[in-house]
Amino acid sequence: MQIGDVTIDGVSDGSLSAPPTPMFNKTDQDWLQHSQFLDDDGMLPIHMGGFLVRTRDRQVLVDTGIGPRADPVRTGRFMESLAALGARPEEVTDVVLTHLHFDHLGWATDGERRVFGNATYRCHEADWEFFMGATPYDDSLAVSLMGGRTSSELLPPLADRLETWSGDETVLPGVDVRGAPGHTPGSTVVVISSGTDRAMLLGDVVHCPAELLSDDWEMIGDVDKQLAQRSREAVARELEGSDIPAAATHFPGLQFGRLLAADGRRQWMFG
Ligand SMILES: [Zn+2]
Repeated sequence: MQIGDVTIDGVSDGSLSAPPTPMFNKTDQDWLQHSQFLDDDGMLPIHMGGFLVRTRDRQVLVDTGIGPRADPVRTGRFMESLAALGARPEEVTDVVLTHLHFDHLGWATDGERRVFGNATYRCHEADWEFFMGATPYDDSLAVSLMGGRTSSELLPPLADRLETWSGDETVLPGVDVRGAPGHTPGSTVVVISSGTDRAMLLGDVVHCPAELLSDDWEMIGDVDKQLAQRSREAVARELEGSDIPAAATHFPGLQFGRLLAADGRRQWMFG
């Protein structure tokens, strides 16, 4: 994806899949109309990974996959994918985390050291507090189901190279963060811009494009479901008919797409 003079590439860590109905407040019947987002076995593909954003003088990672300790067959390819894009770990200047769930931190550290030794790590202050504060959020159940390591195991090495944001701001030239709370308190959309062009990286505001088509979706992992729903709907309204390319960290193949407004009904088109 080319946005003016900025290049955005998906960095794949591999892909898992899950039965779609238990993840959302939807029935098997509801999913019939969204079958284009399911695989041949009726499962929802859940990609793992992040995005490499290359500007003139920076190499920025947005999210870092589920890491080397999840499913050894289907995931664990993040560093290979990064190498295939011609980027060396020591050249990464910044790691921007859309939120601090473990499946976005997998390659941020190995629990003892930062994987990207020269990078400044960046996240929302509210998520740092939520995952590392006095009563840290317990994600051990999700980790036991999906593999990987908990956020509280992965985050400590970031502490002395961390810059946090607390509102909507420009964190780097061409990289803006916008609060979209609900999935976690600091859940964030990253807006990449160059000249008049822009693209949006949606983090976990949505896990599947179907969630942008109507405003009645609830996702099991959202910490505050109503707030997440409002944030998701605000993003959908902005994207609808705008021609702004958008991708979320779990979209299949980390592909970008556009939210079209056709005959009063939203449609998602990859590509
Ligand atoms: Zn996630």
